[in-house]
Amino acid sequence: MADRSQPTPTPPKPSLPPGMVLGPDGKPCKICTAFRNWRPTAPGSTTPRKKSTAEMMAALASGTGFRSPEPNTTLPAHCPPDVEALGRATWTFLHATAAYYPTRPTTHQRANMLNLIHALPVLYPCTHCAKDFGDRMKECPPDVSSRERLSRWFCERHNEVNEKLGKELFDCAKVDERWKDGPLDGSCD
Ligand SMILES: Cc1cc2nc3c(=O)[nH]c(=O)nc-3n(C[C@H](O)[C@H](O)[C@H](O)COP(=O)(O)OP(=O)(O)OC[C@H]3O[C@@H](n4cnc5c(N)ncnc54)[C@H](O)[C@@H]3O)c2cc1C
Repeated sequence: MADRSQPTPTPPKPSLPPGMVLGPDGKPCKICTAFRNWRPTAPGSTTPRKKSTAEMMAALASGTGFRSPEPNTTLPAHCPPDVEALGRATWTFLHATAAYYPTRPTTHQRANMLNLIHALPVLYPCTHCAKDFGDRMKECPPDVSSRERLSRWFCERHNEVNEKLGKELFDCAKVDERWKDGPLDGSCD
């Protein structure tokens, strides 16, 4: 009979390298992770190598072989998006779509905007971003009643993400300037 007096030893959890995010499948999630945190390297080497999920899993299991985050490392333009490039592109789309939404939207326009917003927690590929956004939407349901209100709603949700990431908050009085009209100095005209 098994000795039940001893607790079953649990294997030590591998520590995640800084900034690395796991997906729902327990594997390193590329689209949930900033590019600068997604570069395995052989111990002692300074040369970034081509990376694969298998390499990331191996490095994760060993707890070694990751480069330290480097603030100036940006994703080359031809690469698939990381969490930051995806976020910038998505916010651009969402804020711009809100900026050009009608002042008095029809029922049809409101319904479609709601569909678009409600699709995000289901389809947004960064899964932890999607979940948090969905949770916030339950607390603060989208206001699609006008252009101004929708723009503010997106601004506030974006600021919640900014706050979570330790970034500066955006002044929501300036959403039109940022996403529709451009600055008064004409530098974007
Ligand atoms: C729905 C959603 C959820 C996300 N959740 C996460 C997450 O959980 N974890 C994570 O790491 N990343 C998340 N991201 C990505 C993150 O928000 C940023 O897009 C990413 O970190 C890149 O940031 P950035 O500093 O380049 O500028 P971004 O935050 O992408 O902003 C782009 C530009 O928008 C303007 N801006 C900034 N704040 C506001 C605002 N409040 N209103 C209007 N305009 C504004 C600024 O001019 C800024 O340069 C999420 C993105 C989206 C779309």
